[in-house]
Amino acid sequence: MFSGSSNQKRALPHCDLLVALPPLAAGQKGVCPRCSNTLISRWSNPRTQPVMFAISALIMLVLANLFPFVNMKVSGIGRQLTLPQIPSVMVTEHFSSLASLFLLFVQLIPAACMIFIILLCFEVRMAFRLRAFLAKTLFALRAWGMAEIFLAGVLVSFVKLMAYGDIGVGISFLPFCLFCLLQQRAFQCIDRRWLWDNIMPMVSPVTNAIRVGEGGLNQGIRACSCCTLILPAAEQVCPRCHTVERARRHNSLQWTMALLITSIMLYIPANILPIMITEGLGSRLNSTIIAGVILLWDDGSYPVALVIFIASIMVPTLKMIALAWLCWDAGGGRGVDRERMQFIYEIVEFVGRWSMIDVFVIAVLSGLVRMGQLMSITPGIGAVLFAMVVIITMFAAQMFDPRLIWDRVDSHIEKGSTVDGK
Ligand SMILES: [Zn+2]
Ligand SMILES: [Zn+2]
Repeated sequence: MFSGSSNQKRALPHCDLLVALPPLAAGQKGVCPRCSNTLISRWSNPRTQPVMFAISALIMLVLANLFPFVNMKVSGIGRQLTLPQIPSVMVTEHFSSLASLFLLFVQLIPAACMIFIILLCFEVRMAFRLRAFLAKTLFALRAWGMAEIFLAGVLVSFVKLMAYGDIGVGISFLPFCLFCLLQQRAFQCIDRRWLWDNIMPMVSPVTNAIRVGEGGLNQGIRACSCCTLILPAAEQVCPRCHTVERARRHNSLQWTMALLITSIMLYIPANILPIMITEGLGSRLNSTIIAGVILLWDDGSYPVALVIFIASIMVPTLKMIALAWLCWDAGGGRGVDRERMQFIYEIVEFVGRWSMIDVFVIAVLSGLVRMGQLMSITPGIGAVLFAMVVIITMFAAQMFDPRLIWDRVDSHIEKGSTVDGK
């Protein structure tokens, strides 16, 4: 009864429910009735709006790199820190791995995304393949831009250092805050469906009648995970973006479990080994993640102790449990209702990257607190291991195919209807 005309726009989101897209006015967005994901959003200026935000964000990022970012004064000795100094200090401390992560996640990836948005929306003349590559990379990189998490890390390190001396912000601090806001806004104004239709308008090659309001796999169709084009399930190569994939991500559960087990194995030493070494006035203190939380709590910085506890201990642990639960449920376990599993999946996808906050706190502290004999902070090997745990669990969540959550509901409905039919 829902079968629409062949030129009607349809979407097949994460939950694999075929949805008809109504015509929208500017400022409106279409949401999936089953999983509540945004399917389409109409902006009044889909071309100029993201470009303006992206250009402003880039200008702010350049300004943020030119001037002092934060400063600290301890018993007469002052130190200023610029953003480019943070990785260079870590390199001199032989932590090039942390320096590269900082450069990549806080500066290079967000900047690259902004450049991609400008090139794609401004219709700069370039080959179709290059445009498709940029669009593909843009959405794949989105989760790896962590400028706003770094900013939260800076605020946490301020609270940590308040007990030791005077902390102040430099000229670059405000441009960096604006950069975080503007780059978020640029991403918000980009509609994936509009962008791909703009790169290469294409009508879905599915010719047989498909029923809106039913699962995609049962009808022999799938959506391209990159450009959202609806394809026959048997067709492995997308004709528009050339992404090669199957109806369901190949060995999704095996990959997720393998990465999950790797991250658990790394999480144990990450908690035992020191993440930060504080040296001052002849004493040397190795602090682990949990010791850092206890120290903050004892100092009376309860909110910050809670932030670090939630981000570094609760979130990674719960994320690992949630991923194992999702795999067990999708593999045929007796799970709870689908909406709740979808909600758990989205939480895992959203909060996972915020665990990086502790790594950024260490980056700021080791860059700023270098007062020679008086007090200096250096990163410990635990910080590298912890960063790896966060990155590997992010990959594990990305390998999980959320459509598996809904597949059993659809197959159940299918079975029920055939039984009724008999
Ligand atoms: Zn949905
Ligand atoms: Zn595609």
